[in-house]
Amino acid sequence: MSNVSAKVAHLASPRQRLASALDIARVNADDVDQKGRFPQEAIEALKKAQLMGIMIPVECGGENASLADIVDMCGALGQACASTAMIFAMHHIKVSSLVTHGLDSNWHRDFMRRVVDEQFLIGSATTEGGIGGDVRNSICAIEPEGDSFTLTKEANVISYGLNADAIMVTARRNTQAASSDQVMTVIEREQYALQMTIPWDTLGMRGTCSEGFLFKCRAPSNQIFPHPFAEIAAQSMLAMSHLMWAGVWFGIAADATTRAQNYLRAEARKKPGSTPPAAVRLAEMFVLLQEMKSVVMTGIVTYEKAKVHSDTLSSVGFSIAMNNVKIATSQAVVDIVQSAMMIAGISSYRTGGKFSLGRHMRDALSAAIMVNNDRIVANTSNLTLVSKYDTNLVA
Ligand SMILES: Cc1cc2nc3c(=O)[nH]c(=O)nc-3n(C[C@H](O)[C@H](O)[C@H](O)COP(=O)(O)OP(=O)(O)OC[C@H]3O[C@@H](n4cnc5c(N)ncnc54)[C@H](O)[C@@H]3O)c2cc1C
Repeated sequence: MSNVSAKVAHLASPRQRLASALDIARVNADDVDQKGRFPQEAIEALKKAQLMGIMIPVECGGENASLADIVDMCGALGQACASTAMIFAMHHIKVSSLVTHGLDSNWHRDFMRRVVDEQFLIGSATTEGGIGGDVRNSICAIEPEGDSFTLTKEANVISYGLNADAIMVTARRNTQAASSDQVMTVIEREQYALQMTIPWDTLGMRGTCSEGFLFKCRAPSNQIFPHPFAEIAAQSMLAMSHLMWAGVWFGIAADATTRAQNYLRAEARKKPGSTPPAAVRLAEMFVLLQEMKSVVMTGIVTYEKAKVHSDTLSSVGFSIAMNNVKIATSQAVVDIVQSAMMIAGISSYRTGGKFSLGRHMRDALSAAIMVNNDRIVANTSNLTLVSKYDTNLVA
């Protein structure tokens, strides 16, 4: 985009600029789902609206967008196309690591400028064969070669791997390091090779194209984040992941609620003067949706308050709070879509219609396994005995 058009785009806020991408995502959502294809049109629209670098500080060319801004946009996109929303969320989780942990490294600052200028899409390779969803352990290792390094990773899930401009990868610091002594590094597209090992033909989130790959790269060592991955995970990545994902899941739940409401309105019009019996269920859904919204918004406030104190970010109470956001919202989205299906009945069970909820249900079911809830609850259970729950009613 030229400087002139970039300035024109920035006359509007990021949320205003999202409008055209929302329409494009909504129109293509069913086709993306049916074909299990990358949502090319919607991602191009997000890039055209200059929305890929908005979290980056102004001094590096971005717009300093807050976590709340991004989560709100994830929610809006989630109402249009959950796969597009998840791609947007996963990209911004990666950008948030750059913003939080890359400002004191010249290479990462330059890269942030390029994310803004070239509207890069950044993918993530944390999951590994033999390790599964245990983000805090790696088998693969950085192998230094002078000022550069090589890395080979059995990356079983890399969403939009074939469409990314760069991928952030976790690995052991070196071949002698313990499995939890990890670093994270940014690798640009021309520095890596992807050999597909596992196709992505899944129940839901089909447009994320989260294939498995044998990932091989060679890159200069200054692309490795200077901070250990343990710090990156604890201080930004896990919280950002849970909150941005929760935004996407809220979007799915909100659209399911709208579809159920539209169905009931159509029913009510057929019998003027009477309220359809299922309206009671809709009233209950509004309660669930409000609860879900409260969990997400309180989680954002908790993160914003904690981030100014690194001790709080590393505290047991904060970890539990963020884990709880993930558990609560990943379960709520399924409950809400299920309730919507009970209201719209067979119309929701059919594919393709305006009350159809099959895609919503299939996308929602990914939430509990996207870092398995059992794994998260097991982590939390280790912490609960040493933590006192914060009973103050202030976020
Ligand atoms: C839509 C989608 C997109 C994704 N995109 C990416 C991506 O771009 N990059 C990426 O790296 N990953 C990605 N992932 C992977 C994701 O982050 C998880 O790593 C992955 O879903 C975990 O896979 P798993 O179920 O095989 O492994 P695990 O989490 O290891 O779970 C396997 C089984 O082991 C059990 N288990 C394991 N450990 C414990 C424990 N300590 N306590 C209790 N139970 C345990 C689980 O309950 C489960 O039954 C994506 C996943 C999804 C669904």
